[in-house]
Amino acid sequence: MPNNVGVEQVLCQFLAGHILRMLWFIHGEPMKSSLGQNINLAKLSEEFGSDEKCRKVLEQLRWPSGPKCPRCQEKATPIANRFQYDCDKCHYQFSVTAGTIFHDSHLSLWKWFLATLLLCEAKKGMSACQIQRTLGMTYKTAWYLCHRIRAAMLETGKAKLDGIVEMDETYVGGKAKPGSKKQGLTGRGTEKEIVIGIRKRNGDLRMFHASDVKAGTIAQFIRENVSEDVEVIMTDDFASYPFAMERAGVSRTKHKTIKHSSRVYVMGDIHTNTVESAFSLLKRGIMGTWHRVSAKHLPAYLDEMCFRFNNRKNPYLFRDTVLKLISSANLEYRELIAS
Ligand SMILES: [Zn+2]
Repeated sequence: MPNNVGVEQVLCQFLAGHILRMLWFIHGEPMKSSLGQNINLAKLSEEFGSDEKCRKVLEQLRWPSGPKCPRCQEKATPIANRFQYDCDKCHYQFSVTAGTIFHDSHLSLWKWFLATLLLCEAKKGMSACQIQRTLGMTYKTAWYLCHRIRAAMLETGKAKLDGIVEMDETYVGGKAKPGSKKQGLTGRGTEKEIVIGIRKRNGDLRMFHASDVKAGTIAQFIRENVSEDVEVIMTDDFASYPFAMERAGVSRTKHKTIKHSSRVYVMGDIHTNTVESAFSLLKRGIMGTWHRVSAKHLPAYLDEMCFRFNNRKNPYLFRDTVLKLISSANLEYRELIAS
């Protein structure tokens, strides 16, 4: 009776799927993520130390009210004995990693989780070498993994900064010996790279890799990042700033300068100390952690640093980063290594 066996199998699968789905809803609908506040390494390995557990977490984060088909957004039924779902409408079969950055990765979810936590936690950044050693993988895998997590950390659509804003520029890298073309941060011998920092006092930080410090370049950063309602912008007395402010449409009364050229660093509430403290963190990251950052990848490191800095009081930073990973597009390896 081969036909009957087939029918039985289908029925069994249907029933198993149905029971699984019932269980899904019984255990709290909508299911809240079990990824709580202030996750640390010990908690992570205790509670999520296997691929199966990580998969469950991803399901809770991606589908807080039950699995949804990525193609038609309809509800889906779990397939028995597989980590997959079957769409109730179009019968597309998928897993929680379908269409996410995790899908084509040969790395275990558990290693993704560990690397993400390490990158979230490391104040001065974490090098690919460190990830390679700590998680036991090749350097190439660690490097690619770090870059993909970093790309997911990229903050887009950020509100412009208002209130009291500090702006400053700094120079990083350039440790190579004169005449050396290959080493150092720039790939252009001893020349250093320019980083522009803008920070709202007691608020968010932005850092950018700039091609030069001409008034036009600085004005562009002001226009893109500082609100028209800004209370005041504080800078040092570097010659480009007054012209940059004018070009960006910032009135003279809103621009205050501190005379670093005369070795004055604080005058009442006029200073650029809070943006400079962020620079020192960046420099310690470059010197102590990353050692060498190519000019090409410098913007990615700056974004990572800003993301961590701006989320320093966020107890859900790890969960939020995993959420960003779920929704971000994959960064191709060949795109990363292209010159
Ligand atoms: Zn569907």
